[in-house]
Amino acid sequence: MKIAIMSRNKNLYSTRRMVEAGEAAGHEMRVVDTLRCYMSMKSNDPEIHYRGEILDDFDAVIPRIGASITFYGAAVLRQFEMMGVFPINESVAITRSRDKLRSLQLLARKGVGLPVTGFANAPDDIPDLISMVGGAPLVIKLLEGTQGIGVVLAETRKAAESVIEAFMGLSANIMVQEYIKEAGGADIRCFVVDGKVVAAMKRQAKEGEFRSNLHRGGSAALIRITPEERATAVNAARIMGLNVAGVDILRSNRGPLVMEVNSSPGLEGIEAATGKDVAGLIIKFIEQNARPNRTATKGTRG
Ligand code: ADP
Ligand code: MG
Repeated sequence: MKIAIMSRNKNLYSTRRMVEAGEAAGHEMRVVDTLRCYMSMKSNDPEIHYRGEILDDFDAVIPRIGASITFYGAAVLRQFEMMGVFPINESVAITRSRDKLRSLQLLARKGVGLPVTGFANAPDDIPDLISMVGGAPLVIKLLEGTQGIGVVLAETRKAAESVIEAFMGLSANIMVQEYIKEAGGADIRCFVVDGKVVAAMKRQAKEGEFRSNLHRGGSAALIRITPEERATAVNAARIMGLNVAGVDILRSNRGPLVMEVNSSPGLEGIEAATGKDVAGLIIKFIEQNARPNRTATKGTRG
């Protein structure tokens, strides 16, 4: 098969591993810089151009769209879909998952366990917003933050009020969330491929930090997850309509709580922590599912 990888940099670990795994399975792999893809909308004849050349006859596309280029990346991926190329994750599902609030709304409707989360616009509503999520300490998050940037722990009601007020003053979109203290600065990343958790790791925040992101100095280790955690992760990926997803779960006193669902989960941490060939499993998924014109919007309404 001929498989395109949308990525800004072919030297990134995840990109390199996808190329390696695809080539090992006998496929032709090509990395295209997402921001250098441009397109023409013509009736019945969608095209993607790349450095003067027309990109065609790909069987599948692996989108690795960075958070900062979600809008453009989703447009390029949608164009591949219009051309009938099979995407490992669909543009609609990726866009859905990039908005933390939208994701939580969809997961909540389906009964998935979540930290209690609030969203408001007017500064006058801040006191009640804080009460709604159970008071301080609480977590304040930018809706489109990533890698732990834009996630703040407010220890007291006073601190929470001023931070929320400041964000609102800047017109930043934030949500307010119950702080799951008992998680102890750890979370579980479940890597889901095609409805199965194929690898899982525990990420532990460094000393004095509550965010477990590896980019914030967290460390990763192999972990055995419970059947309930497994079912939660699979369910969350399905609701979001993602074939490949990194589902982040907090262990709480009331069971597994989904924090977020990532549509371009990194391979480096998870492959190192588990020793699994996750890239190879993604290629297998493509082999088993890629057919022309098989983009049907999946996942839940919304
Ligand atoms: P990002 O998209 O930036 O990774 P997350 O929502 O995943 O944002 O939050 C980053 C980290 O902060 C999580 O991995 C987790 O360790 C910690 N965290 C986030 N929300 C909570 C919460 N409600 N309770 C406890 N810890 C949290
Ligand atoms: Mg995260």
